[in-house]
Amino acid sequence: MMRESFSDTVKQAAHGNWPFTLQALGINAKYLDGKNHPCPACGGKDRFQFTLRGNGADYGRFACRGMDEQGGDGFALVRHVFGLSFPDAVKAVANVLGISADSIFNNNYMAIPYAVPATSQVVQMVDRTDKVQAVFDSCVAIRPDNQAGKYLLNRGLNWVCLPTGENSPLRNCTALDYWHVADNKPVMLGTFPALVAQITKADGSLAGMHRIYLSQDANKLVLHGRDGVLLPNKKLQAAHDGALAGAACRLYSIWADGRLALTEGIETALAVHRMTGLAVWACISTSGLKSFLVPDGVREIIIYADNDRPDHKGRNAGKEAAYILAARLVAEGYKVSVLLPPVAGTDWMDVMNDEINKEQA
Ligand SMILES: [Zn+2]
Repeated sequence: MMRESFSDTVKQAAHGNWPFTLQALGINAKYLDGKNHPCPACGGKDRFQFTLRGNGADYGRFACRGMDEQGGDGFALVRHVFGLSFPDAVKAVANVLGISADSIFNNNYMAIPYAVPATSQVVQMVDRTDKVQAVFDSCVAIRPDNQAGKYLLNRGLNWVCLPTGENSPLRNCTALDYWHVADNKPVMLGTFPALVAQITKADGSLAGMHRIYLSQDANKLVLHGRDGVLLPNKKLQAAHDGALAGAACRLYSIWADGRLALTEGIETALAVHRMTGLAVWACISTSGLKSFLVPDGVREIIIYADNDRPDHKGRNAGKEAAYILAARLVAEGYKVSVLLPPVAGTDWMDVMNDEINKEQA
């Protein structure tokens, strides 16, 4: 069997996705508008032009009269701007596109724009749709006087901005079981109040539920396992294997003008709605964001990304997921923008609360 080389894989993934890839690497969008500019690498006055249309655009072609070669493709531009060797330029681009050298050999890398995970090839699928639906049906609407409602108010949200109608995907559960697997045995650690959110597939059917476990005083639950380790207070349950790929929590109805905003978290989505009035859906996780499938009636996607603190490898998972989704949606023909909070380690909920504090100061 012929094995595709790492650089070929990265080339394929970058094909047609250069503007976002270059911006994700830190090249200012103003250089990439197809007009003449000083070169972002070697300066000058108007020696640089990025190719916006046609075949060349797919390869990230650019012209720079300051170079002996007079320009090149996207990889050449990355080398020119950052002074990298070709292998290092390939690594930098791979990093932005979420491809690692290890993962291409087991063939599960995120190949953009073919990033839509298959949901139909699962063998012996366990269907939990009825269970998930039963939990959701046992919940009541969020209200200012139940724990889920109080929790959202505690986070600085305004009641009139919340999706509270009977079609709201957000519900309050007064006592939800908390299961934890220890030594391969599931143990129920207790029942707690929870905000339960319905997750919907692109075709409108049930994909699963997200649960944010709460304390009696309507803050996030702090729960430790028997070994003293802090347990997660958020849990995501798929209706069946693969059901969550492409799905989202549909918090608000899509606008008639076809604009839809996306976030990772539910609280962040509610904060973005409070600040912008936009229809916002929460994709719950970075993998949910990366795999999101756009439903009919949407033309423009605005991604309000989390600006995560870089991990030990210097990667910002929230930003990376947003750009991977953006690159795919651009290739699919949507108008796309990515908005990041200005400070590392913050999300749009933090931005909203900063604004409120400023107003009150
Ligand atoms: Zn140059």
